[in-house]
Parts: sequence; structure tokens; C-alpha cells
Amino acid sequence: MARDKKIIIGNWKMNLGVHEASLFVHKLEKKVKAHRSVEIVLAPTTLALQTLSLQVNYRQFKLAAQNFYWRDHGAFTGEVSATQLRGVVQYGLVGHSERRHVFHETDKDTRAKVQAAIRNHIRPVLCVGETASERAIGETNDIIHDQLIGGLANITSEELPEIVIAYEPVWAIGTGKNASAADVKQAVKAIRTQLKHLYGAKAAQEVQVLYGGSVTNDSAADYLALDDVDGLLVGGASLDAEAFAGIVEKAFISSKESK
Ligand code: PEP
Repeated sequence: MARDKKIIIGNWKMNLGVHEASLFVHKLEKKVKAHRSVEIVLAPTTLALQTLSLQVNYRQFKLAAQNFYWRDHGAFTGEVSATQLRGVVQYGLVGHSERRHVFHETDKDTRAKVQAAIRNHIRPVLCVGETASERAIGETNDIIHDQLIGGLANITSEELPEIVIAYEPVWAIGTGKNASAADVKQAVKAIRTQLKHLYGAKAAQEVQVLYGGSVTNDSAADYLALDDVDGLLVGGASLDAEAFAGIVEKAFISSKESK
């Protein structure tokens, strides 16, 4: 997808049951305006994906899996694979800080999931970002470097444009402590520099890079104004229809389509 399109992803985490998710989408359908230059992606509980896939108009909303297993099928009780999600979702979150830090997923896991998503025609959204203590000792760029190398190890330059990278500093997720625009600019620059080393300048410039971490309707425009930022991954504020609609409008205003 070309970089002139912004991506706004709403990660509902473990909130809203199937019925509630469906009602919330009805609300969003009325409030959130579709724009050609903004890809709006909803990541509900896995349980609601099937229902919502029949409900949403894909011209207005795309769907994302919050998580999936990297094997395609087999004896993996309780897991859902990218193969099973194929055709239901267009995106899949990989390496979200809650997966890394609560469920102890490693770079090896994220790498396998990135590959599984690509193999099943799902765009992986690879989340990278440092913890507060890593930031305090100046390790932000090293963490970004390691998580990119770890997550992308088996990805070719032909596959790279299918991948979305999200810079999500762990200390900013769900804390209300959003990163400053200057912090984000710096981190996204580090991401593109690393991608350039791995895949060359052209490929690095073509990848869509998002910011996520306590984004609100009030702070969204500051990030979207950064040249190198192509959209936002929104948690808490995506459960507020008014705020989410506002963030989508900010993305539209920052896009070329509105100019
Ligand atoms: C997230 O879930 O990826 C996220 C950024 O959450 P929040 O916006 O609530 O910090």
C-alpha cells in the first residue's frame, strides 16, 4: 500500500463481547467517515471477528487480529492460526508489548508470526518499542534494532511493503504518558535507518510506520503531522466512538487527499 494512505488501527484489547462489539461497530458506522486516503482498521476480540466480517463494509473498515498462532493447523489446543483468519482479517498485530511482556513472546515468536501472516495474505503490524528502564539507560535505538532484526529475519525485500511497523514505546501504552512528537520522530528515524541497512533506501522509504501509545483525539494531529509517520495504533481512545472518529478525521486532514 502506498505511503500516501494513512492507517488508523483501533485495538480494543480484551474488551467488548461479540454483541457489544457489533453494537459498537454500528455506532462507529454512523460516526466515522470513510476516506480514500485513510485505512481504518478495527482489532476486536478474536471471538467477534467472524460476526464483524459479515457486518462491516470493507470500504469503511478493515479488520485485524490482535493475535494468532504461527503454525497453520495441527494439535495446538486453544490457538487460532493465520490460516484460519485468512479472508476474515486483512491485518494482524504481531509483537504487541502486551504479548511480549505479559505472555513472554520472543523475537523468535514474532518472526514466525510475521511469516505466518505473510504466508496467509494478512498484513502483519510488527510492534516494536522500549520499556521505561531501557529508555532511561539510552537503549531505545538498540531495542528497535534488535526487535526489527528479530521480527523481520526471514522477510525478503519483495515482502517488506506488506509489513507495517508500529513504534509503541512500552512505557506509553495504556499509561496516559504519550511520547512527545520529538521522541516519535527520532524513533521512527531509527526504524527507517535500520530498514535501510537491511533492505536499501527505497524499500525503507516505502514502509508504513505508525506510532502507538496513549494517543488521544487531542494528541493525534501532532504525530500525524510528522512526515515519517503514516498513522496511529490506538488502544484506549479507540473504545470511544467520538474520539476514534476524531482521530480518523485528523488522519484525513493530514493526508494529501484533503489538500
Ligand atoms: C495499544 O494497545 O497498542 C495502545 C497503544 O494502547 P493505548 O492507546 O491505550 O496506549
